[in-house]
Amino acid sequence: MPYSYEAPVSQTLFDRASLVTPGGVNSPVRAFRAVGGTPRFMVSGTGPYLTDADGREYVDLVCSWGPMILGHAHPEVTAAVQAAVARGTSFGTPGEGEVALAEEIVARIEPVEQVRLVSSGTEATMSAIRLARGFTGRAKVIKFAGCYHGHVDALLAAAGSGVATFGLPDTPGVTGAQAGDTIVLPYNDLEAVQEAFHRYPGEIACVITEASPGNMGVVPPLPGFNQGLKDACAKNGALFISDEVMTGFRTSRAGWYGVDGVKPDLMTFGKVMGGGFPAAAFGGRADVMGHLAPAGPVYQAGTLSGNPVATAAGLAQLRLLDEAAYEKVNAVSAEIQGLVTDALTKEGVAHRLQTASNMFSVFFTSTEVRDYEDARKQEAFRFNAFFHSMLADGVYLPPSAFESWFVSAAHDERAVERVAAALPAAARAAAEATA
Ligand SMILES: *Cc1c(COP(=O)(O)O)cnc(C)c1O
Repeated sequence: MPYSYEAPVSQTLFDRASLVTPGGVNSPVRAFRAVGGTPRFMVSGTGPYLTDADGREYVDLVCSWGPMILGHAHPEVTAAVQAAVARGTSFGTPGEGEVALAEEIVARIEPVEQVRLVSSGTEATMSAIRLARGFTGRAKVIKFAGCYHGHVDALLAAAGSGVATFGLPDTPGVTGAQAGDTIVLPYNDLEAVQEAFHRYPGEIACVITEASPGNMGVVPPLPGFNQGLKDACAKNGALFISDEVMTGFRTSRAGWYGVDGVKPDLMTFGKVMGGGFPAAAFGGRADVMGHLAPAGPVYQAGTLSGNPVATAAGLAQLRLLDEAAYEKVNAVSAEIQGLVTDALTKEGVAHRLQTASNMFSVFFTSTEVRDYEDARKQEAFRFNAFFHSMLADGVYLPPSAFESWFVSAAHDERAVERVAAALPAAARAAAEATA
């Protein structure tokens, strides 16, 4: 990788990191491999802004991949964290904070009658799948290509075309046995789901789907898709698991459930509910959750589950997320969406802006994107040129054409103006880009 003259301190940190950490990062997409260049090492964040190790400030349109919905270092969240830290950081016993956070989740999201706290979205989906298998006594799991549910062995299978294909392990280290019970289907294809149930009668434990996918770029469910999944599950004795790790407490007060009202059997949460700390959860029907240890036989545990600092951060953030906060996030999101479309249209760049409430992303293609195959047809090289132009002008986008963009309630007029100022050059760069 060429030495970065734009970001010499980040470059030095990345060189150090690359010696002691594989690829220099602790989560792959941070490495800028898709877009090229040197990842920016951030040293601080406040409101809608991040400051990197070279002292450059960016308008942040990643928001830690969703969690920072109130912006960085929100004073009330920070105060709650500081107060919790001062009381001690982990007890290995139950505490009131985790009860309060569980109550907040149950109060907001009607299908969640009981909830178990964990530390990451990956743990949440892994545990939900185990519970679904334990509850139904069945092995097979349906997931959709392009949906990401964390790096759970059985859920990393994303390839597999056609109908009811057995997922092949998509990464070395995942064995055929671990992925062999995973059926990967095209997203938004109810017929494929019905065929799979027909083909494996009495074998499918659950269908897991992103409530509204954001991990292949934003590809919302077609009208009736989630309801169709729920109906197919109910008819065939399987559980419907809605993964709301990304959409939960972001797309509305009650997440995507608050948008489409389709009632899952189990749901998973993370990102926003942790307030920037590692806190996640899975929950749902009390009769299903009752199968979890110690109430029931399905084992699940965690040394730091319900950690008092993480739960204090999450609770403080959720309590600040009232209707007015969501209105603010939605409004600023709509404003930025409009600016992006205008800039790209002015330069004649074929693109498709897709939204799910305040989540949105831009596909460099002229046709609607309904599944992963559609998403992969876009001209990602245009995004890469667009990304680097925005970065150079102080706007931090997700470093991949296959990710949602995120805004916060802290994105004010000044932040929007800076995005607007950066867009014309980026749109031109996208127009001029060549594969
Ligand atoms: C981020 C994400 C996960 C994984 O959460 P981690 O906390 O990164 O383990 C799972 N599902 C969805 C939909 C996500 O967006």
